[in-house]
Amino acid sequence: MLWILISLFFCWLIFREFRSRWFTRPGYDGPDPRPIYKPYLAVLIALALAFAWPPFHYWRIERLLSAKATELADPRRAEVHCNTVFDTFLDREYLSIGHADPKTGKIVLQYPWCARLMDYLDHPDRANSEEITSLNMFTHESMHARGEYNEAITECEAVQRDYRAAKLLGVPDKVARKNALDYYQNIYMLKEKIGGFQAPYFSVECAPDKALDEHLVDSTWEAR
Ligand SMILES: [Zn+2]
Repeated sequence: MLWILISLFFCWLIFREFRSRWFTRPGYDGPDPRPIYKPYLAVLIALALAFAWPPFHYWRIERLLSAKATELADPRRAEVHCNTVFDTFLDREYLSIGHADPKTGKIVLQYPWCARLMDYLDHPDRANSEEITSLNMFTHESMHARGEYNEAITECEAVQRDYRAAKLLGVPDKVARKNALDYYQNIYMLKEKIGGFQAPYFSVECAPDKALDEHLVDSTWEAR
């Protein structure tokens, strides 16, 4: 919002330049006869665009992620919001990397996790563990938007759909399989050992042919 206001301020300065040249100013006989100083105008336009770019960029990312989260949360509708640093200060759940309301389908991804997810999509073939975690975070919150409250079940639903989520986001098939299995084998399975605040997200029943296996046709596990 702050960026938009700054951009609008520069738009107003541009408008002011044209207004003074085209219209009679109060107390004067006619418009300002001086020509518009083009370098000044170019700087104003560049600043207006530079400050408008981040909100526009994030608006596009949120639209993309909302559409894909809605596909994952089928038949429910999901809406993704990427928190800015300022949003984070006002967010009561600022300690979690993301959260979602199963009633409304509204998903909030904490700063800078939207950017991290975009980094993952830029180079999924050489994703680091944080970037792979950002994929699972997106799938996990989509499962909450689908209506699930229980963290262990939500996480297990996500683990099984990470492969689907990566493909929906445009990751090539083989890489999507590898990333989804990487999360399950190297990050999810560690939660049991780590315990603490990770413990509620883990279940021994979250494994092939165990109680939480949904036997999805495109399950991450089927890719093994
Ligand atoms: Zn959760």
